[in-house]
Amino acid sequence: MTDYMKSARMVGVKAPLELVDVPIPEPGPGEVLVKIEVCGLCHSDLHFWLGEHPLPELPTTLGHEGIGTVVKLGAGVENLTTGMRVGIGYVYDTCGACRECLTGYETHCASVACTGVDAQGCFAEYTVLRANWATVIPDTLEPVDAAPLLCAGVAAYSATRKAALQPGELAVVFGSGGLGSYAIQFAKLSGATVVAVDLAHEKLEHALSLGADYAIEADGNAIDQIRGLGGADASFNFAPSTASWRQMIESAAARCRLVLISLPHEDLRFNAAEVIESGLRIFGSADGTRQELRQLMQLASGGKIRSVVESVPFMQINDAFERLAVGSVQGRLVINMQ
Ligand SMILES: [Zn+2]
Ligand SMILES: [Zn+2]
Repeated sequence: MTDYMKSARMVGVKAPLELVDVPIPEPGPGEVLVKIEVCGLCHSDLHFWLGEHPLPELPTTLGHEGIGTVVKLGAGVENLTTGMRVGIGYVYDTCGACRECLTGYETHCASVACTGVDAQGCFAEYTVLRANWATVIPDTLEPVDAAPLLCAGVAAYSATRKAALQPGELAVVFGSGGLGSYAIQFAKLSGATVVAVDLAHEKLEHALSLGADYAIEADGNAIDQIRGLGGADASFNFAPSTASWRQMIESAAARCRLVLISLPHEDLRFNAAEVIESGLRIFGSADGTRQELRQLMQLASGGKIRSVVESVPFMQINDAFERLAVGSVQGRLVINMQ
């Protein structure tokens, strides 16, 4: 007899998700079945729903910040047991054999498959997960606090880690919303002096409460203020605008690392001389690896990372998408499946 579960399925661009009964999937070899407790709603889910990133096929079930309990093991699974609480992130699987996979850059694998895109996601009562892609969630961490770490948190963590911040350096975080609020905390933990830049006054207040040393309004004389502090040794762009890009370039100290994470709609421009003469380094960062997720969960379980989350019942998932689309959300929305 087939057992059924509720699944929120995306059936078309900007169309309400349909809450339908579908068969509970069977875990294949190397896979586990997970009963989902909560799943964070990420901006990538919104981009998919708005049609900004086309999906290979519809209907699909989005959601890639899932936390749940392993309830069934597929053949050959040895690293997990039933009853373990695991996290399900954006990367569903990679080839495991290419240069990127073998050198710690697995998120750049050319054969990457993604949760909610190439495989069913976590806005459902159950989902199937590749066992060797499970992130074990410490018992001391609340599921709602852990969920946003699986994509937003680890993306910010990976970006700050790649910047190799040294104690006493000046780290400037452009955009203090979801990812930026995590980056502020990671930069602070590395011993840097942290500057938050944002247009919204309440986000700057929040940045200070998370440990930022300075909060600067983006539309004021941000460049002069950052230069007055000695210039940025590392800048992180979580604000998808060309205006913040100019500010990053012009507030950079010599040998500044400029890290791009969010996607602006327009091309970013720079003059080669200003990059060459100051020895600037510009690079991108996307998502984070399994090892970075492990490190992040350890940090968070020690109480060193704060998430601002709002729990939303599963039946109100369409309201959550609408609210995120109009930008009326403080912190991260986490859908509760229970
Ligand atoms: Zn995401
Ligand atoms: Zn690979």
